[in-house]
Amino acid sequence: MNELQLDRYSRQILLPNFDIEGQQRLMQARVMVIGMGGLGNIASCYLAAAGIGHMTLVDDDVVELSNLARQVLYRQDDIQQPKALAAKAQIAQMNDEVEVEVVLQRLDEASLTEKIQGYDLVLDCTDNFKIRQIINKLCHQYKIDLVSGAAIRWEGQVQSFLFSKEDTICYQCLYPELNDTNLNCSQSGIISPVVGSIGVLQSLDAIKILSKCGQVVHAKLRVFDGFDGVWRDINLTQDPECVICG
Ligand SMILES: [Zn+2]
Repeated sequence: MNELQLDRYSRQILLPNFDIEGQQRLMQARVMVIGMGGLGNIASCYLAAAGIGHMTLVDDDVVELSNLARQVLYRQDDIQQPKALAAKAQIAQMNDEVEVEVVLQRLDEASLTEKIQGYDLVLDCTDNFKIRQIINKLCHQYKIDLVSGAAIRWEGQVQSFLFSKEDTICYQCLYPELNDTNLNCSQSGIISPVVGSIGVLQSLDAIKILSKCGQVVHAKLRVFDGFDGVWRDINLTQDPECVICG
């Protein structure tokens, strides 16, 4: 690590347990962020600032005016530009040491299988139930840690699955039925700081997993009710009948 890097990351290097080793692990890490809406915006922003080595941003959408209220990486000039490209440009201005790759297509199981291998961690920031199940299946299969977030209306939830380390509960155990009724922000609404809070927590879990520092909550679903301002932890148990991990 050079002098500038030691200076840039000095506040996190100062932390007991994190140290230079933790920073070096972040700088060697490869992360895929799937979905560059509100969750992916915030999570990728913090990961880039913290000095993640490589990030691949996946999104097939373009920036719209109605995104700007919560997708804070984007600027008015980015309207109609592909989200992943606009995010890459902002991240380059924030930290040009982070290698950023973009995928401007909607991934299905075949294309994701091709791309997902070789990553240390995946952030699921999508708003589509079917792709969530596919991401879970492939992360479990290739033993890639998965940090999953969701936010709608005044509520958000976050959960991490440590597939690289142990036989663990998976996303499918939580939602065994394929649910076609995708809830999304364009139909149901969202209050911006709720999605921001969940994205920040996703980045925190990712940083802890990748740097091997701190305790990562798993086998628990953390749910935030932004309207009442309360967090709830829901204990989860592995489903022995689960088609993915059972
Ligand atoms: Zn499972």
